[in-house]
Amino acid sequence: MAIKLGIVGIGFIAKHQHLPTIAASSDFELVAAASRSSAVEGVKTYKTIAEMLAGSPEIEAVSLCAPPIPRAAEARLALDAGKHVLLEKPPGATLSEVHDLVARAAKRNVTLNASWHSRHAPGVAPARDWLKQRTVRSAQVIWKEDVRVWHPGQDWIFEPGGLGIFDPTINALSILTTILPAPFSLTSARLDFPENRQAPVAAELAFADANAAPISASVDFLQTGPQTWDIIVATDSGELKLSKGGSEFYLNGVRQEIAHEADIIRGEYIGVYAHFAALIKARKSDVDLAPFAHVADAFMLGERRTVAPFSF
Ligand code: NAP
Repeated sequence: MAIKLGIVGIGFIAKHQHLPTIAASSDFELVAAASRSSAVEGVKTYKTIAEMLAGSPEIEAVSLCAPPIPRAAEARLALDAGKHVLLEKPPGATLSEVHDLVARAAKRNVTLNASWHSRHAPGVAPARDWLKQRTVRSAQVIWKEDVRVWHPGQDWIFEPGGLGIFDPTINALSILTTILPAPFSLTSARLDFPENRQAPVAAELAFADANAAPISASVDFLQTGPQTWDIIVATDSGELKLSKGGSEFYLNGVRQEIAHEADIIRGEYIGVYAHFAALIKARKSDVDLAPFAHVADAFMLGERRTVAPFSF
């Protein structure tokens, strides 16, 4: 039987990915939504999650698609009502609020899943498997995109808790923490804050893994023209490259054949919901905070530079 699902926060990602993915999923049946601004066709739409939980008690699981700041409060309500919860990335605005969510889920014996959609990109699993047997010499992340294209008018992204350039950078970190065989930590960072904003628009990050292999990340929210979402790993037996956010996989410059959905991003969200359903069936949680901890480290350790003001 399909799991009865409610969805909250009907914005860019809910409209483009969550709703079509849920509609095509046999694991979930969408029964209600909560939105301040939109009505979701075919289901009862409430203004708030509290109204949704009270008005549609048949809901078994809730998908939370709002930005990080309102999301933890929504997650607390859903978990305390005994619902399974899927969190969009990043899993919260602070580490401690997510630890609290983990404890609430355990107390209620429900599933909490901090989703990392980029981990479901088709190149990620083959890259992880190829790197397992190799020694990493160095790694490089280049993650440069145009915030005006991908987050049009989303002022929340430059407010405290919005993470700025770390909103997409955390996708790269979610891949890197999956594919690299050894853990790594930040050694230095430079964050560029527009003089009129509370979150960085670009950053340079340096990490080292447990074997002292250097890892760098160059990330920018102001890239116009071609967009770059690349990860390059040099090893003792050749170079691996993931391109286009993990959708293309190269070994020593040669593109490898990998199975994937025709629509790559939709494929990632099919993976997100399949994993959430499997966790619910197994009554398990999956809340890997490693990518989020690296971002927190960058805010703690990073040198700050003030740069030109930003407007959409
Ligand atoms: P968005 O369109 O700006 O916001 C999503 C929805 O959240 C809004 O439409 C609104 O829904 C609700 N919301 C916004 N601010 C709120 C507030 N202060 N209080 C309560 N509800 C609020 O953002 P988005 O691009 O969908 O991103 C949402 C999350 O998905 C972020 O964490 C982002 O990192 C992640 N994500 C985004 C993308 C992308 O390409 N944009 C890709 C993957 C993941 P209602 O009007 O329905 O209440």
